[in-house]
Amino acid sequence: MDLRKEIREIQDFPKKGISFKDITPLLQDGKTLKYLTKEFASQLKDLKVDVIVGPEARGFLVGTPVAYELGIGFVPVRKPGKLPAETIRYEYELEYGTDVLEIHQDAIKPGQRVAIVDDLLATGGTVLAATKLIEELGGEVVSLNFLIELGFLGGRDVLKGYKVESLVIYE
Ligand code: IMP
Repeated sequence: MDLRKEIREIQDFPKKGISFKDITPLLQDGKTLKYLTKEFASQLKDLKVDVIVGPEARGFLVGTPVAYELGIGFVPVRKPGKLPAETIRYEYELEYGTDVLEIHQDAIKPGQRVAIVDDLLATGGTVLAATKLIEELGGEVVSLNFLIELGFLGGRDVLKGYKVESLVIYE
């Protein structure tokens, strides 16, 4: 199946000059959703992954079915103030200003093998922040899996040292 054909590109969203990759057509089609979930699961099946982490919000949509397919759990990484129990936070630089991500303190156990699944790799800042949270809790990040990678933004360099896999790459 050619996933690239199913990705909708919206020009000038959310800002002028951005060609936004819209994954909602892939999610709303049952065959495509099953295909991409199985592709992710087959990339991860030999890595002895204990838990999937997905960043808010589209990481929830693509990560949870992969966890279900593998028979393991899912842990959300969220914007500040959304998670109700005790959290740890990581603050990271954006082009203008900073952003914060949080995870529940008891969500990852020391020594657990963790894969992060997200919809899109751009600069890599979001997923790098998620790796910091997981590692602070003692987890081992064994794989980073994306539906789409914007290769021209160099996110792979930011994530050097980690195993990175993407289903569709825009060079
Ligand atoms: P990064 O931190 O620069 O790698 O940005 C990745 C995050 O931005 C992901 O969690 C995406 O959900 C979001 N993102 C950036 N560009 C797009 C896009 O074109 N389509 C969908 N999400 C995007």
